[in-house]
This record gives sequence, structure tokens and C-alpha cells, in this order.
Amino acid sequence: SASNSLAHADITTLLHPYTDARAHEAKGPIVIDRGKGIYVYDDSGKEYIEGLAGLWSVAVGFDEPRLVEAAARQMAKLPYYHTFSSKSHEPSIRLAEKLVEMTPENLTRVFFTSSGSEANDTVVKMVWYMNNALGRPRKKTFLARTKAYHGITVASGSLTGLPNNHRDFDLPAIPVRHLTCPHFYRFGLPGESEAAFTARLVAEAEQVILEEGPETIAAFIGEPLMAAGGVLPPPEGYWQGIEALCRKYDILLVADEVINGFGRLGSSFGCVHYGFTPDILVASKQITSSYMPLAAIVFSEAIYNAIADNTARIGTFGHGFTASGHPVATAVGLENLAIIEEKDLVGNAARVGAVLQRELARFADHPLVGEVRGAGLIAALELVSDKATKAPFAPIGKVGAAAYAAGHANGLIVRAIGDTVALCPPLVITESQVLELVARLGRTLDDVAAQLPD
Ligand code: PLP
Repeated sequence: SASNSLAHADITTLLHPYTDARAHEAKGPIVIDRGKGIYVYDDSGKEYIEGLAGLWSVAVGFDEPRLVEAAARQMAKLPYYHTFSSKSHEPSIRLAEKLVEMTPENLTRVFFTSSGSEANDTVVKMVWYMNNALGRPRKKTFLARTKAYHGITVASGSLTGLPNNHRDFDLPAIPVRHLTCPHFYRFGLPGESEAAFTARLVAEAEQVILEEGPETIAAFIGEPLMAAGGVLPPPEGYWQGIEALCRKYDILLVADEVINGFGRLGSSFGCVHYGFTPDILVASKQITSSYMPLAAIVFSEAIYNAIADNTARIGTFGHGFTASGHPVATAVGLENLAIIEEKDLVGNAARVGAVLQRELARFADHPLVGEVRGAGLIAALELVSDKATKAPFAPIGKVGAAAYAAGHANGLIVRAIGDTVALCPPLVITESQVLELVARLGRTLDDVAAQLPD
């Protein structure tokens, strides 16, 4: 059949990201054929709720005709042009304007790339260029956190704080210090309060700054709510503490909003949700609902001026991509942000997100569930073998993989991060669809529990 020949062609030609290749050859791909709203369908017609919005990224659902039309209109008019050497085009200008309008007031300038990884590599190079321009070439080190995800290219992969992204690739390749992950449930000490945990992490950051020398620390980068590392909301007061340190030691604060941005937490941006002001904001994924590859770096006038005022002396900012500000991607981005506004999807994420968090909180009583956490329309259940001691299952990841597979059997696509089950449905999800998602998740957990030895 056509489907068998597709599967055969897949296993004989493709190397899939993050996939055990030999296991994949034996099992074959799940070929996703079409989408509708929060649902996707495989080529056998099986329906799944896309509980992760693809890769945390499809805000408007999987069949938005307005994005198709926006892409077609731009394709017909000007399918490609670049933005090097003063060349420009309307969609990239209009989207830049829109991003400056939507993001915090101090962010006034925009640089486009095609992916979050490229955007974070660009941030590294922009900050390094700026500090060279300002005559402080030693100020180059980044502060990041363990379990952070900032991408997989050589620089952004260095900022990422997950062992499997470093170990086999000789990373980090840039100067970076990874601080303790701000996840109270896992990294709080026995008897420590959440406030004391926050204070300890902020003190640790200051100690590292002083140890390295503030004149060598360029920037602190963080996801307001860490997503790919396990959906980890920060403890109370954390961002205020980090922001104060950045101001004290003249360190740029970078909010990686690649997943948080455009309403995911029920606020416009994660930095707005947690009440801090970054110097640089990185956006991608939901910027186009991932219908087209696009990322944006939105940054302050002070950074822009440091670059602009010194170019004549040190040379132009020699950085950019063939597809920087791609007209079709930026046209789709503009239309996507218009839909998010018109349908008040940020408000929907707050309202329907509250229903999701309330329903998931009921799983706290489930024998497998150690912690339920999240904000707005992003959430996770961490599965443990002993709720009292928080002891993980051994080996880590086996129960998570079982939950992932059981989810598929129950028509629900989730992400398993070790033994944490992550959810991040499209922002268009309705209250009744949340209840259906939660019902499928409940059946999934019961199926996993039934597979475990007593
Ligand atoms: N930053 C964050 C917070 C992410 O979650 C991701 C991807 O998941 C990236 C950066 C990298 O984006 P990309 O996969 O488009 O390179």
C-alpha cells in the first residue's frame, strides 16, 4: 500500500532528530497526514489530540486558512527577498513594528532569523560584538541554568543545560556557567522554604558572578518558565532577584520566550507574567504558529546604539542569514499575530488554562504522580515511584516512554521528558476540549499504572 511504501522509504532514507535509529527502523514512523484544530490524523486515519501543539508551537490550530492565504498572497507577490545591505520589504518591516509594539516598552529593535537556535546564536554574537564595540572584550561569559533549553547549534547548544545536548558533542564551546535549575520540588533542600530556595539561587548566581569577575559576565539567559527541561515554573521572587543582580553588575538579561511568548502562560510574554524587564527577548515557534520557520530577537535601543555608533570604527555587524526576515515567513507571522489578537487567544490561554490546571491538579492524588505544575496552557505531571520520598523510577525515562506510548493508544500526543509528561496544547483549545484531553490523559495514566509491577 501507499502507506507501507512511505514507511519503507522513511526507514531506508531518513535520520530523525532525537530518535533511536535502529528502534525506529524496526517500528517504522507514525506518518501524520493532516490536521484540524487541536487534532492531527495519521495516514491510517487515527485521530490524536495534539497535546504538545506540535513542538510547543501551533497557537492557532492545524488548519487555519488565513495563514495559508497570507502565505499564498506573499508567494505570488514577492516569494523571496533578503534584508542584507539596506534591502528591505514590507512584511519584515510591518512585523518588526508589530513586535516592538507588543513587547515591553524598552525593546525597540528587531533582528530576524529562521529558528530559535539561530536566534540564540545571534544573541551571543550580538552581545559579543557589542562588548567589543564598547571596548570591553573580556565581557563574554553567559550565565544559563541546568535543564535550560536554548537550542542545539554550537553556541545555543552550549547555553542549553541538558547533559545529552553536551556530552556527545564536546559542548559547551563558548564560555558559559550553568546555575542551579530553579525547580523547587526537585532542587529545594529538605526543610527549605520556597523563599529560602529563591534566596539561595540568587546568592549562588552572585557568587558565580564574583568568582568569575563581573567584568567577564556578559549576559544571563533564561526561559521565564523553563519548558523543554520539564515545564518548571520559577519560584516566587526568582526573576526579581536575578534582574536586580543583572542591573547591579551591568549584565544583560535575555528572556528566551521561544515557547513562553505570545500567550502561552496566559500573559502576552513570560517576562510580563513574572514581572521582569529583559534587555533582549527571543521569540519563535508561536510567532507563525510554526506554519513557517521564523524567529525574532527584540532588543533595546542601548544595544542598537552600541552597535550602530561603533560600526564605522570596528566594522559592520557581519551576521545574518539568507532567510533573515523571509517575506513569506514574516507575512504569515503578521497574520498569525493578528489572529491571536482578534480571537483573544492570550485571554483564552488564561481562562481555559485555568480549567486545564484545575483539572490536572486532581491527578495529584494519582499513585504515579509526584508533582503537578504549569501556568496557562502549559503543564506537566512528574511521575515518581514513591510520592513521599519523590524517588524517581529506575531507569529514568522508562515509565515516561510507557506514558508516551499509552497516550498514542488513547489518542493523545504528549511529550515525555524523562518521567515527566508535558502538555502544551494549541491556544485555540476550548474548555470542552480540555476536558476531553484530561479524560484521555487519565486513561493513559491508568494504563501505565496497570503495566507496572506491584
Ligand atoms: N529556545 C527555547 C526556549 C526552545 O524551547 C527552543 C526549541 O524548543 C529553542 C530555543 C530552539 O529553537 P529551534 O528548535 O527553532 O532551533
